[in-house]
Amino acid sequence: MGHEMILVVEDETDIRELVEYNLIKNGFRVTCTATGEESLVNARTLLPDLILLDIMLPRLDGLEVCRTLKNDPQTADIPIVMLTAKGEESDIVRGLEFGADDYITKPFSPKVLVARVKTVLRRKKDNPTDENAVINIHKIAIHPGRHQVLVEGRELDLTFTEFQVLRLLAQRPGWVFTRNQIIEAVRGDDYPVTDRSVDVQIVGLRRKLGDCGRFVETVRGVGYRLKE
Ligand code: CA
Repeated sequence: MGHEMILVVEDETDIRELVEYNLIKNGFRVTCTATGEESLVNARTLLPDLILLDIMLPRLDGLEVCRTLKNDPQTADIPIVMLTAKGEESDIVRGLEFGADDYITKPFSPKVLVARVKTVLRRKKDNPTDENAVINIHKIAIHPGRHQVLVEGRELDLTFTEFQVLRLLAQRPGWVFTRNQIIEAVRGDDYPVTDRSVDVQIVGLRRKLGDCGRFVETVRGVGYRLKE
């Protein structure tokens, strides 16, 4: 049984060793590096199953590493979990838009880190590809083909854009989507979408979802997600 390989990119020795220790303890194979430059080489030669990537690195920072790897077809599918400090929301937003899959804010507990790594690896495997499959989450049923949303059997009167936003969030519960990612996903429907109008869509969506509206969560400074 092959154990999954995690590439850890972190210039702070204490954190790097803590992460390494806990991943190995949980059965992962681990390769560590302290620089962005070396992490690019490692990613391309080792093709790890997941990369834990510190954002604040000397010279080539984590955002650049993320962008480079996600733009390279050879490494684009490797999930990246960013390690960030509190207050770096704008970096988180940029990282997610470059294609990072998730982020963890320092300081974090090893337990949370390992759980997050496992979740991202599991999501990668599940990878729901059927665009028209009905999504059932909480008490909400989303029928993509029919553009229909039912809450406990009651049909909601959503606008097309509200429907698109809800479907996007529901396709990856627990994932944070930035406003730009939401705009990208609903664009092309003749609707002038801006940051502000995303917020307006969310307000409308929550109201129409009634009790279930609380599952549409705001992630301060980053974006929105549907509670897992
Ligand atoms: Ca750092």
